[in-house]
Amino acid sequence: MITIQDLTFWYSKQKCIFEGIDLEIGPGHIHGLLGKNGAGKTTLLKLISGLSFPRKGSVTVDGRIPAKREPHLLADMFYVPEEISLPSLTPQNFAEINGGFYPAYDSGQFQKFLGMFEVDAMQSCARMSHGQKKKTMIAFALAANTRYLFLDEPAGGLDIPSKAVLRSMLAASFDEAKTIILSTHMVRDLENMIDSVIILENRRIILNQPMEEIARRLRFDHAPFAPVSDEVIYSAKGELGVSTISLNHSGMQGNVDLETLFSACNQVPDKLSACFYP
Ligand code: ADP
Repeated sequence: MITIQDLTFWYSKQKCIFEGIDLEIGPGHIHGLLGKNGAGKTTLLKLISGLSFPRKGSVTVDGRIPAKREPHLLADMFYVPEEISLPSLTPQNFAEINGGFYPAYDSGQFQKFLGMFEVDAMQSCARMSHGQKKKTMIAFALAANTRYLFLDEPAGGLDIPSKAVLRSMLAASFDEAKTIILSTHMVRDLENMIDSVIILENRRIILNQPMEEIARRLRFDHAPFAPVSDEVIYSAKGELGVSTISLNHSGMQGNVDLETLFSACNQVPDKLSACFYP
């Protein structure tokens, strides 16, 4: 379990990135961490990975402080940054050297994932494109089989077929003991990959809920005209009609329109979070 209590963080005192946030992120989910550019997604992942330290408050993972860099915890945690830099080695050599740090690392799985991404295990990483480096690192991170896996903008730089491959790899390597967090500012990239959503906006966590719960409480519609109802929390006019979010009293669960949900968190954050945290 990742537990964040009263976390305040700034790089420079003039600009606070987080102000007193509380957050619990549990296992058994692939969480989507959504926020606009500059909202603090990377910073939050670094704080959870122990690469940055809270100015106030605390971040713990299974009760341990990641910033202490204890080997036991590091062996069970993998953070893939948005920008990948790899040494001048082949993926094969890279994995032989680094696999030993992760007790559950599976070399057969690494070869399989590289194959699915069509990356040559014997090609030097120095001669790879940005996308190929990213695929190599994601394949290694998934094969490391750590209980905690954080992928910062994993779909950025991947072509459309590779995004579909990533989706099936995540599904194949996920189990109930794992906590996976994928960050993005491109909401559509994560569709069908995540089953829980964390939305960061304006130094706060607006939402931290499983998709099932969102679908239970909210109803998403798209129609030529906006419905007139007190139950409507948010509506946005697009070229093809009006997308609305209303309170769901039907007891039925429909689909969650992530893009509309994300826009609503930007436009009417208080209204939206009041639906979950009255
Ligand atoms: P996101 O991942 O959501 O795009 P970041 O966590 O990268 O956001 O950045 C949050 C804010 O912190 C941005 O305003 C960014 O400019 C600033 N920032 C990020 N890293 C640093 C740093 N090392 N020093 C100073 N400011 C930083």
